[in-house]
Amino acid sequence: MPRGDHAAYLTGDWGAARRQPTMGPMTDATERPTKRVLLAAPRGYCAGVDRAVVTVEKALELYGPPVYVRKEIVHNKHVVTTLEKRGAIFVEETDEVPEGATVIFSAHGVAPVVHEEAKALNLKTIDATCPLVTKVHREAVRFASDDFDILLIGHEGHEEVVGTSGEAPEHITLVDGPDDVANVTVRDPDKVVWLSQTTLSVDETMETVRRLRDRFPSLQDPPSDDICYATQNRQLAVKQMAPDCDLMIVVGSRNSSNSVRLVEVAIEHGSKAGHLVDYADEIDETWLDGVTTVGVTSGASVPELLVRDVLTYLAERGYADVAPVVAAEESLLFSLPNEIRRDLKARGLSDKMRHDAAFEEAGSLH
Ligand code: SF4
Repeated sequence: MPRGDHAAYLTGDWGAARRQPTMGPMTDATERPTKRVLLAAPRGYCAGVDRAVVTVEKALELYGPPVYVRKEIVHNKHVVTTLEKRGAIFVEETDEVPEGATVIFSAHGVAPVVHEEAKALNLKTIDATCPLVTKVHREAVRFASDDFDILLIGHEGHEEVVGTSGEAPEHITLVDGPDDVANVTVRDPDKVVWLSQTTLSVDETMETVRRLRDRFPSLQDPPSDDICYATQNRQLAVKQMAPDCDLMIVVGSRNSSNSVRLVEVAIEHGSKAGHLVDYADEIDETWLDGVTTVGVTSGASVPELLVRDVLTYLAERGYADVAPVVAAEESLLFSLPNEIRRDLKARGLSDKMRHDAAFEEAGSLH
């Protein structure tokens, strides 16, 4: 993408965009600084969100509306309202689903007791839990069966934390950030492991682990990173951009943990200001006062079209020069849940993770 070619961005010519330098030329001291946008890559949909959204789309196609979804399928206002218009019904608890109906469990995962509730109501269940959340559930089960005390670093009340804790409630203690470490008690300080929510700030989590290890020197690490690749990559891109930004705009919803973390990471790493918006029309024009460089990124549950709206808004106000800042390349795709793949196959329909043309034409979610 040639620098300053906003229209080229909107056509999605990313192969060209990635071949460009990440930073634009700066003006000399006698010129007015050039208004510009630094655009993070990667940003937006991760593999787990993509899979969960396509799961609901395919379920609507297969079974027809209504399809029930327990909790928001992913934490994004636009995704939820768009799927509602297509016939999805979002409920808070399993007992709100009529007996015998189909219910999808969200990307954040559920506790085993929720599966039992669904069985008791004779519901057809489709589990759209992200495989990287399922991995943390399995770690919790394994360490609990070895009788460890598990210190789960995460945000109290977040659906993912509720689901993971439900795997081994007798063994799991929630640690909600570094300041919560002083409150932790364990049975045996030599048999303690930490796990974490997938969408936390990497830096804050490491600080929490450091303080836990001060208290429990034998603390074991998880077998592999629990904070997922998508969370880490989006934070990495923001860390690279933030020192050059007067303002960081993060597209995402307030209940999206990874989106909220991106604003925090931006400020911690040097952006002079940072704001979270669901839609471009939530941007306050005064945020742009005196601003030369605007960073733009989006959380892992955000459709790209919402970022495009923000870029259009900025271009109309003189920020048409868009330079990508590429921190990592992502190509991970998860296959659809088994229940959906089986039913698609039986109907002779494609189970590919790519979105079908009808939904792409609808243009709302991808
Ligand atoms: S943010 Fe990470 S853990 Fe959450 S759905 Fe995406 S890939 Fe899975």
